[in-house]
Amino acid sequence: MHQKQLPKVNLGFFPTPLHKLKRLTEKLGGPHIYMKRDDLTGLAIGGNKTRKLEFLLGHAIDQGCNTIITGGASQSNHCRQTAAAAAMFGLECHLVLGGSEPSDPDGNLLLDKLFGSKIHWTGEFRKGEKIPDIFMELKSEGKKPYIVPYGGSNDIGALGFVNAILELKVQSRELDVDFSHIVFASSSGGTHAGLIVGTYMFDYAVQLIGIGIDKEELPAGSIEKQIALLTGTTSSYMGFKREIDLDHIIVRPEYLGEGYGIIGDAERESIKLLAETEGILIDPVYSGRAMAGMIDMIRKGEFTNNDNILFWHTGGTPSIFHYASDLK
Ligand SMILES: *Cc1c(COP(=O)(O)O)cnc(C)c1O
Repeated sequence: MHQKQLPKVNLGFFPTPLHKLKRLTEKLGGPHIYMKRDDLTGLAIGGNKTRKLEFLLGHAIDQGCNTIITGGASQSNHCRQTAAAAAMFGLECHLVLGGSEPSDPDGNLLLDKLFGSKIHWTGEFRKGEKIPDIFMELKSEGKKPYIVPYGGSNDIGALGFVNAILELKVQSRELDVDFSHIVFASSSGGTHAGLIVGTYMFDYAVQLIGIGIDKEELPAGSIEKQIALLTGTTSSYMGFKREIDLDHIIVRPEYLGEGYGIIGDAERESIKLLAETEGILIDPVYSGRAMAGMIDMIRKGEFTNNDNILFWHTGGTPSIFHYASDLK
């Protein structure tokens, strides 16, 4: 299809594993639970941004750019994977991170530094305000900068998750399982929109359930509006325009707790449960919150025991070490 002609670089090892969580399934006594292991993409401790960055960096390199700029929170998994990907191709990487420099960098921030990225702290400025200035400054130095959006979430980044549905379709055939639902952490909307477009494109019937992570307003307003917008632009980019009704986009709002990156009992419980029953690490900010949401939905009887639920592990593992004191 059209996609074949789109520039892409290889940043990870695909397909990522997909397997059943037998002990967790038994423990919860509800539907069959499987996990898609995007924590094992292979790029710098893994994560869902690897798929998006394959297309974003492909586009940047195709345009002749040699410097990458992106932004996020100080513990951004997206920034860490972008820094690693840039290093793989010898591109200079500038990260614009929220707040001010901590005295003792750890977790993702420590890794950003190891990958040689140049870090700009926003201080008092709002998230993103400094990016255009940095872009102009780098240009005036004769560099060719390329801006990767927050979370890699635009139509180009979302392509990574369109492809992921094809990958899943092949794996589910091999395992001989029909998934009824896919549950995952949804924050800047690119993962969710890419999965929606993938289900259209590859004719894959499954219910997508995003678990909301972040209360913060997105450019389009609500997260549902952001996902709808991205679904339209991503499908156009692929050569077929498909709109989606806002009512068909599910992002569960009830698991936000005290807000982004604030660890509560629900996240602590899900992290411990996965570690103790499956030997699998999930993170406090994203995959742990999404897992807590899925566990709650199972306990409330939202699924039948015949359902096959796929939990898409989107990564985030390095932040465990930043949040150590919340997890002890
Ligand atoms: C970025 C991220 C998400 C959310 O993906 P979006 O495409 O931004 O919605 C989920 N989990 C982890 C670990 C992430 O880093």
